[in-house]
Amino acid sequence: KAINEFHLNQLASVGQIAAGIAHEVKNPLTAVKGFLQLLKESPTDEYLDIAQSELNNALATLENLLHVSKPDAEDEPYQPIKLAVELEVLFTLFQDQIYRVEIQRNLLDTETPIYGKRNQLKKALFNLLKNAFEAIPQKGTIFVQHYATDEEIHISIKDTGVGIPPEKLKMLGTPFYTTKPEGTGMGLTQVFSVIYEHQGKIDVHSVPGEGTTFHIKLPKMTNTPTRGVINLNVEYAQGED
Ligand code: ADP
Ligand code: MG
Repeated sequence: KAINEFHLNQLASVGQIAAGIAHEVKNPLTAVKGFLQLLKESPTDEYLDIAQSELNNALATLENLLHVSKPDAEDEPYQPIKLAVELEVLFTLFQDQIYRVEIQRNLLDTETPIYGKRNQLKKALFNLLKNAFEAIPQKGTIFVQHYATDEEIHISIKDTGVGIPPEKLKMLGTPFYTTKPEGTGMGLTQVFSVIYEHQGKIDVHSVPGEGTTFHIKLPKMTNTPTRGVINLNVEYAQGED
């Protein structure tokens, strides 16, 4: 049963991705087609220039997509990262919004870093904060909580924004799913994939008209996971010989 559900989800994603690509690439290609026709009738540099720039748009879209499907920092090493420090830096990127959105933070004051893909985790937190700001139409508050338990680091980002209808919750993280006119629908795809890669978990809680909370749990890793496994294997092999 679980496999079927997973399969259905995958198929839905593929359809969504295909629709997204088609939509993004169709417009410039349609324009190129039109201008090539015009060129046939009266060759001018102007038509050539437009056709060329539309082709460049289509190529740029495809390049962006390739970038997302193979994240730039895919091979980024696990390294020590202090999330409280990174969060403070990220807040400064939204300084032009503080006249309307207040950030209330309660950040873990610890010197013990966790291990993770620093740039990818920063990007994920940025994407969540950006969504929180965008969810608040006028004035509101974003609450950022960051605390640790024995096993995990918790970060929750709560906004007093528009909220998400229950039937749309399952769409979150699907590539190209967006409800924003200028949205890419790739933000949460990045977030979910990075947290998954770090063996973390995400809970989303949302009340339409009241707001949304994204709650992230990351296991406290004290070292690069792969390195730990490899070392262990080598030691066993030597011991038995
Ligand atoms: P984008 O921001 O480009 O639309 P995302 O993947 O970041 O793409 O988000 C997908 C969709 O999920 C958004 O368009 C929005 O409808 C919904 N969403 C995400 N975060 C929030 C939030 N904090 N509050 C309300 N809706 C949200
Ligand atoms: Mg977004």
